[in-house]
Amino acid sequence: MQLYCESLTEYKRLKTREVKIGDLLLGNFRPIRVQTMTTTDTMDTIATVEQSIRCIEAGSELIRITAPSKNEAENLLNIKNELRKRGYTTPIIADIHFTPNAAEIAARIIEKVRVNPGNYVDKKKFEQIEYTNAEYGEEIDRIRERFTPLVKICKEYGTAMRIGTNHGSLSDRIMSRYGDTPMGMVESAMEFLRIARNETYHNIILSMKSSNPQVMVQAYRLLIKTMFDEFGEIYPLHLGVTEAGDGEDGRIKSAVGIGTLLEDGIGDTIRVSLTEDPEFEIPVCKDLVKRYEVKSQKSEVRQSLTDNLPYSPFEYKRKETFAVDNIGGKHVPVVIADLSKIEKITPAHLQSIGYTYDAATDKWAIGDAAADYIFTGNQLLDFALPGTLKVVVYPASWRLAEDEGKYFPIYGDSGYAEAAFKSDKLNFVMIDCYNDSIPINDYSYLDKVSNDPTVVICLSSTNKNAMQSVRRMFVELMNRNIKNPVVLITDSNWQTPDEHLIHFATETGALFLEGMGDGICLGYNSKSEIQNIKSTGRTYLEVKDIYQFTNNTAFSILQATRTRISKTEYISCPSCGRTLFDLQETTGKIRARTNHLKGVKIAIMGCIVNGPGEMADADFGYVGSGPGKITLYKGKEVMKRNVNSEVAVEELINLIKENDAWVEV
Ligand code: SF4
Repeated sequence: MQLYCESLTEYKRLKTREVKIGDLLLGNFRPIRVQTMTTTDTMDTIATVEQSIRCIEAGSELIRITAPSKNEAENLLNIKNELRKRGYTTPIIADIHFTPNAAEIAARIIEKVRVNPGNYVDKKKFEQIEYTNAEYGEEIDRIRERFTPLVKICKEYGTAMRIGTNHGSLSDRIMSRYGDTPMGMVESAMEFLRIARNETYHNIILSMKSSNPQVMVQAYRLLIKTMFDEFGEIYPLHLGVTEAGDGEDGRIKSAVGIGTLLEDGIGDTIRVSLTEDPEFEIPVCKDLVKRYEVKSQKSEVRQSLTDNLPYSPFEYKRKETFAVDNIGGKHVPVVIADLSKIEKITPAHLQSIGYTYDAATDKWAIGDAAADYIFTGNQLLDFALPGTLKVVVYPASWRLAEDEGKYFPIYGDSGYAEAAFKSDKLNFVMIDCYNDSIPINDYSYLDKVSNDPTVVICLSSTNKNAMQSVRRMFVELMNRNIKNPVVLITDSNWQTPDEHLIHFATETGALFLEGMGDGICLGYNSKSEIQNIKSTGRTYLEVKDIYQFTNNTAFSILQATRTRISKTEYISCPSCGRTLFDLQETTGKIRARTNHLKGVKIAIMGCIVNGPGEMADADFGYVGSGPGKITLYKGKEVMKRNVNSEVAVEELINLIKENDAWVEV
């Protein structure tokens, strides 16, 4: 193993223990299983069965159902029997928070239980208490006493278990010793895992979910390393980003987190949590997983890597670069929109990438998600550009451009070395990280641009392991102390909007999460037009304007990796049987009123049992606290309790205003 995966330079699945969930085998190189969770009331047997069937028909290989108390746990038997009667044998998972007795009932009925180590034994009080070693040890004994009966039942009944840590619901004990950190998440699971191993119970899967992909990725990596160091083996992993939201943002956030880990061969089962009907999560899961069915057919390794990396994969630190114009250094990553396939670019095209022209005032309005540069190939533009927008063109056209402050040339690496004319301010130089014609380990071409104060390096790769080969190049740049800023260029060969979006989010998101990248440019190969899918059965993303789609995707990737904040962030739970209001409708209403509040994080959570814990670092929270009742939070503090749901959105807006986080549109 290399640090946390089988290989840092090619796609290889991580070896994990095999577990059995009913008749389904998972881990140990078995296919990556996809799953979802019902949103119906668990006491409504028929509604839950019918929703489960819709999910199974969509391809879900496991179905999770919430069991908040003994009654729901007992009703799992009716649900299971009805499903079997209708011919469905898909394993069922009981989702447990706070109620060991419900877990102990469910473990005798269905195939798998999920426990949250943050709240299985502990009630969260949000208290920072100092624990002595002796007190800490007593706490562990208390957990052992309360958790061991469940382990014994699972062992006796052949039931599998997920120890599912959530970043937002760590126990006070863990928080006091490790804080709200990836290491705290790992230790939270390890405490439970050690107890289970002591009982020689191994039918275990683990997860480390967070709504922040950065935290989530680091926690999984640390968990793998910790398990391997302590036990010499790794239990299978369930991947997910919690409260990812809906639509494009939800998919991108999930793809950044889950995709980054899948790229390194990590993950035995996945769930994409969207604030949409659960059956719509499955096609997104499948799009994520199918990328690796292709990759595993052929691995292409060129330069290897040792464990001695010049960066830590367990913590976020942006790679140090110098600034060239507004790229690199302390600048947020820039977005370059590729408009080179447009035959004649007009002002209207700039609307797609965040600029609005007002003819009356002859002025451009610049949106928060407006591209910083456009790449036009050989085209010089015959209209006045917005003040902040610059143009990247091929060298021959650059020489014809009159406005030197607006146009900058882009070269191939040898082209730049040989060029007679160069910009004295900013030159883009493309490097293909997988160039067959260059001998392995020959990096002499880097000498041509190394620390040239005018050069921004543009990295792309045609390798099947594209992310790994670009990451490998970053290591080379770091080892050679080359500090030019770097723009990540990613083209997609996929076809549907979902596939493109997952491709872009995975390939570039994985690098931004490593602190690599000062800019992003997304494009399509010429054969790869976007094909919208017409369907009555599911919600596919539909794209009317590919330039707007690509530009928004680039900004959303930067937002999801928290490297450039350009819009409001929504942390909305996917809903489940505990949900107390229509999450999709309410999320839509809140989004419509607040989507101009750049940088504000708003959580919309279905229940007060888990919501406050799970809403992580949200600035404001809208949480269901009873039928027709909403409790509003500022951070973790209750500000308005049990507000009537009819006025709750308005009250949320008032709360945002009272705290000076509101701006008028
Ligand atoms: S926060 Fe949402 S998904 Fe989580 S338990 Fe509550 S209602 Fe269910």
